[in-house]
Amino acid sequence: MKKGKKLYEGKAKIIYATTDKDLVIQYFKDDATAFNNQKKTTIEGKGVLNNRISEYILSNLSQIGIKNHLVKRLNMREQVIKLVEIIPIEFIVRNVATGSLTKRLGIEDGTILKEPLIEYCLKDDSLGDPLISEEHIYAFEWANKKEIEKVKKTILRINDFMIGMFRGIGIKLIDFKLEFGRLKTNGKNEVILADEISPDTCRLWDSVTDKKLDKDRFRKDLGDLIPAYTEVAKRLGILHEQSNVSAVNVTKLSSVKKKSK
Ligand code: 5GP
Repeated sequence: MKKGKKLYEGKAKIIYATTDKDLVIQYFKDDATAFNNQKKTTIEGKGVLNNRISEYILSNLSQIGIKNHLVKRLNMREQVIKLVEIIPIEFIVRNVATGSLTKRLGIEDGTILKEPLIEYCLKDDSLGDPLISEEHIYAFEWANKKEIEKVKKTILRINDFMIGMFRGIGIKLIDFKLEFGRLKTNGKNEVILADEISPDTCRLWDSVTDKKLDKDRFRKDLGDLIPAYTEVAKRLGILHEQSNVSAVNVTKLSSVKKKSK
């Protein structure tokens, strides 16, 4: 299997074709963006860490039977993934109220939610990823009822698994974003988990100190992001093995080059 031409470039990743029509390569960039692209930076080493952390989480999800697009990690920045048709919805899962939820509804920051709350946003940067209802999804045929029912069940299993996984390493899973895609097999569409799960897409707070170990460090200027992402990777136990990514290497990569604010 050989790497082919660039198919798509997003804010944090690039997708390349391969010689296998069913597989593509996902490349993790070092670019960090926030507030609908108004704040932009390059943070050396971020892509390497997200590649490893996302590989770890998606592999673990596979092991508990949650189908996803990951085939294998290729190198420091790339993974082979199954080509899917991305459903144009960002599925947000919240265990604790913070971020846009608190701003939108005036809920006190840090309020623990009795049940996980699922929100839907239309995946459209030009519109600022607006919040939508389940009815909007059906009205505009972004997905059908069967797909959304399956996604909701899957999301709750993912949330349960991830809460436990992070609790075990002293981290609270506050909220996160998921994306799903349609995989065509034998002419039939199956909805599977896609994109990435990393500190870029989750809010992760230290269980004892509430220190932010996620992209809010960049969004809110809370200090270096790389040591926080490295801390998450170390606690998950993925920076100890013999490989071309080590805590030392990543720390060396931690200089932050600001392009613009
Ligand atoms: P909020 O709606 O509070 O800004 O975000 C809720 C959760 O979803 C956070 O964990 C945030 O990181 C994630 N999230 C929402 N939209 C995006 C997005 O466009 N990109 C990324 N990387 N994460 C997002």
